[in-house]
Amino acid sequence: MSDDLLDPAAELAWIAAQARGQLELDRLLGVPAALVPTLPALAPAPRPVAAPLATATPTAPTAPAPPGDEDPAALAARRRDAEARLDALARRMAGCTKCRLSEGRNQLVFGQGDAAAEVAFVGEGPGYHEDQEGLAFVGKAGELLTKMIKAMGLERDEVFIANVVKCRPPGNRTPAPDEMGTCLPFLQEQLEIVRPKVICALGKTAAVGLGLIAPDEALGRSRGRFRDWRGTPVMITYHPAYLLRTPADKRKAWEDLQQLFPLIARRRAT
Ligand code: SF4
Repeated sequence: MSDDLLDPAAELAWIAAQARGQLELDRLLGVPAALVPTLPALAPAPRPVAAPLATATPTAPTAPAPPGDEDPAALAARRRDAEARLDALARRMAGCTKCRLSEGRNQLVFGQGDAAAEVAFVGEGPGYHEDQEGLAFVGKAGELLTKMIKAMGLERDEVFIANVVKCRPPGNRTPAPDEMGTCLPFLQEQLEIVRPKVICALGKTAAVGLGLIAPDEALGRSRGRFRDWRGTPVMITYHPAYLLRTPADKRKAWEDLQQLFPLIARRRAT
């Protein structure tokens, strides 16, 4: 408790309001109701003059808080330039046969989203639906990712979404290290163009592919704190497909995502 909190009743009401907001997000993300406590009904109260309660695990190292967002005109100009550079990269990548994954793909999945996004989500590689549609993160896992993004106060087209490998591994197997290594320069170039303030690595394979953790490192021990990738903070969290199989871990994923909030100037309050 902070010494700055002068009114215990207001503080209690504010805590309850925060918790109700958390419950609403839990409902949105599909966290099982059995995992969340029932709260007493309290009248809404103005936020006390104090730092908000920390709901997420402390990070090490702490990610630097960014300055405010860019001037709108400068942002629009940077977005136009980034869109043109991404288009040029996509044209360069079209028909790529640098690795064996080209042999079984239906189509190359470049990735999509805001070319000047503040947040980039990086996954493992295209699955069946992505390979069919040519878009990253569609299907059930994509729907959950969309819910997670909305719960963060963003729209899906306000973030950038891509994978470590751009072509579907046969049978949805995990991409091999040499396949990830061959394809990684494309992702690096995408992220250098988009220049996100923060990257979210979805799942262990994405984290390994970005070189953030060793292949034998457990995701459960790696998630929840910021890493550095070429000067950009990266949060590792669970892949939406895993969360669909293990809904009890949605709460942990949400705690991870909440740590991104101070780095995102354009998010709307949730
Ligand atoms: S996975 Fe990447 S490197 Fe391999 S063929 Fe596809 S685009 Fe090229």
